[in-house]
Amino acid sequence: MKRTWMNYLIEFLFPNRCPGCDAILYPGELVCESCGERMILPHDAVCHTCGKVLCVCKKRSFSYDRAVVACRYRDETVSAIVSMKRSRNTNFARFSARILADRIRYSLNYGTFDCVVPVPMHPSKQRRRGYNQAELIAEEMASLLEIPCRNDILCKDNNRQEQHKLNAEERMRNVSSFGIHDIPLDGMRILLCDDVLTTGSTMNRCAALLKQNGAEAVVIAAAATTVPMLKPPLTKEETQ
Ligand SMILES: [Zn+2]
Ligand SMILES: [Zn+2]
Repeated sequence: MKRTWMNYLIEFLFPNRCPGCDAILYPGELVCESCGERMILPHDAVCHTCGKVLCVCKKRSFSYDRAVVACRYRDETVSAIVSMKRSRNTNFARFSARILADRIRYSLNYGTFDCVVPVPMHPSKQRRRGYNQAELIAEEMASLLEIPCRNDILCKDNNRQEQHKLNAEERMRNVSSFGIHDIPLDGMRILLCDDVLTTGSTMNRCAALLKQNGAEAVVIAAAATTVPMLKPPLTKEETQ
């Protein structure tokens, strides 16, 4: 594309910035090299069934069949997700969707899919924010995988509380706020997408609803998964 003086002016006034550290990037770059390296979780660092670094499959059973994850939810990734939520910078949606789409496309673990379904957001919250960040990632992933993104299947009750404000027990109860429209999904293989995977209860509830309507397989795709904080190594004094 031919760059005009107007492009140069826009780039000068609103430079493309890294959502992890705010450094100025070249046009078209999504994150800086050092943030990118720190954000990405190697594909095999998480359990491909539950999506967690420390597998919880023995403790809990999930309605979804497999999990694919792009990044660790720490440091730069937290800044990038906050920045995406406040609609300041949506580079992270494209960055994480590319990693997820590549992992789905090139790994034998996942197979092919009929559509991508984003985890829905409270309607009032979505009106305030203007968009649902899970949907941004889902749309990007769907376009890369050349399949439809369906936001007409799952819905969220407006009266329930926001999941991130609750503790683990409350989250489990609150997930009943999700609902599904009367759309048959017989035999469909679905990619369910969200920005952050924490306990898995949101994805689990949504996957159960999709299966209730006939979905054959549900694979969850999370831009980031929470990771346990490792204790720093003991100092010399502490070991004595
Ligand atoms: Zn950066
Ligand atoms: Zn597991």
